[in-house]
Amino acid sequence: MTPLNWQKSRFQNIFNMNKKAIASLSLDLDNQWSYMKIHGDEGWDQYPSYFDIFIPHILNVLDELDLKITFFIVGKDTESEDNRKYLRMITKRGHEVGNHSYHHESWLQTYSYEKIENEIINAEKAILDATGQKPIGFRGPGFSWSKDLLRVLESRGYKYDASTLPTFLGPLARAYYFAKSDLSKEEKRARKELFGKFSEGFRKLKPYKWALGEGKTILEIPVTTMPVFKSPFHLSYLIFISGFSMLLMKAYLNFSLFMCKLTKTSPSFLLHPLDLISGDKVPQLAFFPGMNLPTEKKIEVFKYTLNQIKKDFEVLPMLNFADGLIRQKSNIKVVRLGEN
Ligand SMILES: [Zn+2]
Repeated sequence: MTPLNWQKSRFQNIFNMNKKAIASLSLDLDNQWSYMKIHGDEGWDQYPSYFDIFIPHILNVLDELDLKITFFIVGKDTESEDNRKYLRMITKRGHEVGNHSYHHESWLQTYSYEKIENEIINAEKAILDATGQKPIGFRGPGFSWSKDLLRVLESRGYKYDASTLPTFLGPLARAYYFAKSDLSKEEKRARKELFGKFSEGFRKLKPYKWALGEGKTILEIPVTTMPVFKSPFHLSYLIFISGFSMLLMKAYLNFSLFMCKLTKTSPSFLLHPLDLISGDKVPQLAFFPGMNLPTEKKIEVFKYTLNQIKKDFEVLPMLNFADGLIRQKSNIKVVRLGEN
């Protein structure tokens, strides 16, 4: 077989798979106060919420697309009776809930083992109490994670961690964020590892198992960035690009998905509330970057994106995705902590 023919048959094999590969879809349910807190705005400590607007809105959009996803919930948000009413809707409509920490502080990696343990346990209990479902998956706020975090999750019987974002662009995203915020020097120092270090880009893209010693492991499901180039393509980035050109956004998404197929990477796709709602519905956050784009336009980008992903992948909540990965276990590498 000539090299060209070999390439051709390899391509055909990839595209003619009769069974679709799997993908996962999740949303970090960051509330109005957590955006205000990261941004350094006064009044965040009154914990203002937009769940009454956002949750019914997103649940309807997901129904329209016939999708079940994972909502990563912050423990603190379960304290208000009003929020609980909306959080309950998530599980009632058949979605999975995951743990997104109790206080949503993006510097979990600086916490002691005991402090992380409290954070995880308190959030877990609060989410179970509010939604009727015990979370068994975790995503760190602002992609923060540590070895102790993984050990706590394993000891609590968690099935997966989803806190890593393998990209070289973390420091750039942080610089952009700081430039747009009103944070003091001290607050910036506390947030100095927000969105991760440059070295995060060297981490694996395909799901793998962390070996934690004594035969213990935990499945890691990284947020997928573009294979090889490691540039993020989750919805926030697509919305940002669509602000310049819809055509460019489509090309970027489709190339990213092409790279996923080529490298046999099962994508784990990430959403945030502000990717799906705008200043026209939540005027309190109108001053945030990207909030001047109408909600309708954001939903159009979301629907286009999901329809493109669905062409080649079966889209699942994280837990079903994790189960699917474990079933094909030969594909999962084991990585020792500190090795990756
Ligand atoms: Zn978050």
